[in-house]
Amino acid sequence: MDALETLRDESYTGANRCWPCTVLNLGLVGALVMFLRGRRPRSSLLVAVVGVAIVYLRGYLVPYTPEFAPRLVAASPVPDEWFHGEPAHGETSQDDVTRRENESLADDVEIDGETVFRELSAAGVIEAEGEQLFLTTTVDTAWHERMAELTDDSLDALAAALQASLPEVDAAEPYVDDAEWIALGADHTQLLPRPVVVAELAAYEVLGERLDDERLRVAGAEAFRMFLDRCPVCDSELVESSAVSCCGGHLGPRQDPDETLVCPTCEQRLYTFELSDS
Ligand SMILES: [Zn+2]
Repeated sequence: MDALETLRDESYTGANRCWPCTVLNLGLVGALVMFLRGRRPRSSLLVAVVGVAIVYLRGYLVPYTPEFAPRLVAASPVPDEWFHGEPAHGETSQDDVTRRENESLADDVEIDGETVFRELSAAGVIEAEGEQLFLTTTVDTAWHERMAELTDDSLDALAAALQASLPEVDAAEPYVDDAEWIALGADHTQLLPRPVVVAELAAYEVLGERLDDERLRVAGAEAFRMFLDRCPVCDSELVESSAVSCCGGHLGPRQDPDETLVCPTCEQRLYTFELSDS
């Protein structure tokens, strides 16, 4: 089986299997088998066996399927739910309300990254060592201590704390599906992952002693998350992943997918390094 295992492509199989790609490819294998059956029965059997095996092991057979299958599915009259047993995060539709995953408390704050980093280093929050940026030791310690306290808070308490601390958050309440979120906005449609809330709220509080500008505090709190190496909620080591599963957001042909930091236990995204617009 070793030879077979080396063929396996984990990006498109197992939990990562893309059902539109799989279904489309099995359909194509089926069509080819039907075409060959009357003409070359033995080849049709071979095509059936090899084709199904490749789709099983690699997720798809036709090159570049991940780039067009999701769009074909989107254009087809077949309900999207056929391909997604559970609604994907950020598109949860338990009660006919479209919810989307928010990247950060700072989603509506428009300050460019360069300004944020300049202000943070002027305030002695971050320092550069060669090409690398670090949180200064006192800030890092204060942040981790505050995260450790917030981690034990219930989702209710976190939602209340968020609403009490941040002037721009006018409504926050717990939301649970297969993960834990804080729902923001008057209609509670913007979901922030619990680990993101813990990290950003703690960072926002720590920055309060060092920055006067409210918008900078919020944007700075977002930037803190790139310095996480463990999940603030469950302490799992974060893993680097790609923002694009093949059914996920499709980027333009020459854009690299963004790299993300993901908690494998909470199955939530902790940070997105935006490579494509830098
Ligand atoms: Zn976690």
